[in-house]
Amino acid sequence: MASMESLAASARSLLNLELTPGQIAAFQTYADELRAWSGRFNLTAITDPQSIQIKHFLDSLTVLKALPPGWGRLRLVDVGTGAGFPGLPLKIICPELRLTLVEATGKKVAFCQALVAKLRLNGVAVLKARAEELGQDPAHREQYDWALARAVAEMPVLAEYLLPLVRLGGHVLAQKGEGGPAETHAAESAVRRLGGQLGQILPVELPGIVETRYLVIFDKVAATPPAFPRRPGVPSKAPVK
Ligand code: SAH
Repeated sequence: MASMESLAASARSLLNLELTPGQIAAFQTYADELRAWSGRFNLTAITDPQSIQIKHFLDSLTVLKALPPGWGRLRLVDVGTGAGFPGLPLKIICPELRLTLVEATGKKVAFCQALVAKLRLNGVAVLKARAEELGQDPAHREQYDWALARAVAEMPVLAEYLLPLVRLGGHVLAQKGEGGPAETHAAESAVRRLGGQLGQILPVELPGIVETRYLVIFDKVAATPPAFPRRPGVPSKAPVK
């Protein structure tokens, strides 16, 4: 378990979060499974143990900086979760969380399902779907308190994926790199058309990583017009302006 030390130390210093031995063991299992599956197909570009701890696990946990007190009882959806980021690390530290993971690629979905079973996580739904379909499905449209995404699409596209899924008064959070603030300001009119409004842009510094990262939060202040999201593929081909 010594190999999860950088995660434990930086969670403490950056997030004031004390990981329990059980949580550290769960992250160790997660890292082992990532490496085992990555040998079989291209699950993630990041596979060395140190980078998994910081660039995947810790980076996912930085979402905590933006969530309100009592966030554990919220309904969260993580769109384009890939190998489970940022949703599954949040679930590991908060078992009560009601989490839905959405991913279009079958093999990544299979990984998430296998990991959820292995870690015996309850209250996680793993869906093989496109965000554009879920956003028009009454079982998911406007059903979530927060919709999250890391490294999935440019901001106007992401806004069309995420804003339809959250209830009025809910929030969207995008994890972005250095270009986050500029991208956000360029997307403000698209966000407004989709029912959102810029809430906050929070900078995040990860240990050993030069680039500043940003948590961009939009508040849902109006219903998303029924035409959005458009059919699969349309948002990325012709982003809302
Ligand atoms: N969030 C993860 C994965 C990022 S890669 C991480 O940060 O590590 C982007 C992922 O989003 C890919 O796995 C891709 O299959 C998925 N994706 C892209 N567009 C999508 C859409 N419209 N609906 C569902 N998943 C999508």
